[in-house]
Amino acid sequence: MSTRAIVAVLLALVTLVTLGAIATSHTGPRAASLPTVCDPAVVMNHRLDELGRSGYAWEIQPDPIDNEHHAGYTYFDPPLVVVSGKVTCEQMPTVVNHEWMHVQQARAFPGQVVLAYGGMDEVEIIADCGSMLLGSAYTPYLTQRRQQTGDHGCTADENWSARELINHPR
Ligand SMILES: [Zn+2]
Repeated sequence: MSTRAIVAVLLALVTLVTLGAIATSHTGPRAASLPTVCDPAVVMNHRLDELGRSGYAWEIQPDPIDNEHHAGYTYFDPPLVVVSGKVTCEQMPTVVNHEWMHVQQARAFPGQVVLAYGGMDEVEIIADCGSMLLGSAYTPYLTQRRQQTGDHGCTADENWSARELINHPR
């Protein structure tokens, strides 16, 4: 793994715990029923059926996938997305949306993703902007920027860039 270029990094699991708490708080009272068993891999593949895999392999690997508790990595060469085994069914669509945006970045700017966006910070911001456009309520890099700068959401240019990636051939 060390020889692979780690290009994109997502969602610290520490913060994903918060997402789980938020999701739970909005669930409301649950009707009495048998507990449903959810398989994160099924949720991942369902979301990928909707978005398209764009030639990338997607794998769930046991946590930790690194020492920083990230929820996912997108490797550009070879094309592979690894999702942490700690990601729950509820969190999975958000993780897939964000990593899928990195896949689209790689397809739009082969070998030049970081250069195209002027640095990793903006690579992550655009991935979060696209993730939000795809329906994610949890966008950690946008949250971090808001905390640091007070700027909310994405700029018009950032949303335009994200839409271009979503519309890019898959
Ligand atoms: Zn990322």
